[in-house]
Amino acid sequence: MSIIETLVEKFPIRKSKAQKAAFREWAVAYAQEQGYEAHVETARNIARCHNVVIGDPETAEVVFTGHYDTPATMPIPNFITPCNVLVYLLYQLLLVPVLLVPGLLTGALGGYVLKLLTGNAELAASIGGLLGFVMVYVTLGLMMFGPANRNNVNDNTSGTAAVLELMERIPPENRSKAAFILFDNEEKGMLGSAAYASKHKAVKKEKLLINMDCVGDGEHMLFFANKRTRNLPCFPQLEEAMHAATGRNFLMNKLESCIYPSDQANYKYGIAVCACNKMKVIGYYCDKIHTKKDTICEQVNLDFLAEGLTDFVSRL
Ligand SMILES: [Zn+2]
Repeated sequence: MSIIETLVEKFPIRKSKAQKAAFREWAVAYAQEQGYEAHVETARNIARCHNVVIGDPETAEVVFTGHYDTPATMPIPNFITPCNVLVYLLYQLLLVPVLLVPGLLTGALGGYVLKLLTGNAELAASIGGLLGFVMVYVTLGLMMFGPANRNNVNDNTSGTAAVLELMERIPPENRSKAAFILFDNEEKGMLGSAAYASKHKAVKKEKLLINMDCVGDGEHMLFFANKRTRNLPCFPQLEEAMHAATGRNFLMNKLESCIYPSDQANYKYGIAVCACNKMKVIGYYCDKIHTKKDTICEQVNLDFLAEGLTDFVSRL
């Protein structure tokens, strides 16, 4: 059974305390079986975050990461177009009414009923307003902390599988050059990666970190690097290795002219990796995530990343 199949079968949802703990225990044991040092590091910021750390990020030359936590279900897809900032922002604006409508309805209805009951229009209006305000926060909370999305194969079982697949394929003689972290609580606001970064300043400020989030669905593999990362001496080796990898179309993008919010944002030399499909006019896009339709992770995507990134590590 492949790693992605194992994860989908054994740990389809990683959202409750118990689900996450069971996954971490398995992941640590799996890494140790491959001969790696692995442990869970717990740090607290807004939430308690348990990151799975494999190898030694402080001494490695590159750190590969992905978040293992499962998002909540959203009523509409988190449709993203990382290279088309205008469409990206317009779609996010479309989400605003979704957030506000339940609040407006609750406020109006609450106010109306209270007015009927009390006959006091002023009191009804202020309590109705308060109810509406609370409802907006409840809606927002449900989007972030609500029931788990049972289908999360792309976001982010795919990135978790990509990290483990790569870990397994790097030959023993090159393993000290790489380390791996599976981050907790990305979906609550990148909390796990922030917690790790604040505890490990050298990793935050000095290490090349390649973060895989939603890499399973789409034939174009997009990498996003900021200017200072593109100026690293090892950067040409990364591009060469990825161009040489087979099965998928590799694209290196300038992070400063794209949008791809994920855990790499907490690291100075963070590169984001995602898979996209492409359509006319709007260009590269990633759909289905945070919805029931998030069921695709193609092995060819994981093979492409493992092949290219294993090659990159060997060139370091
Ligand atoms: Zn994600």
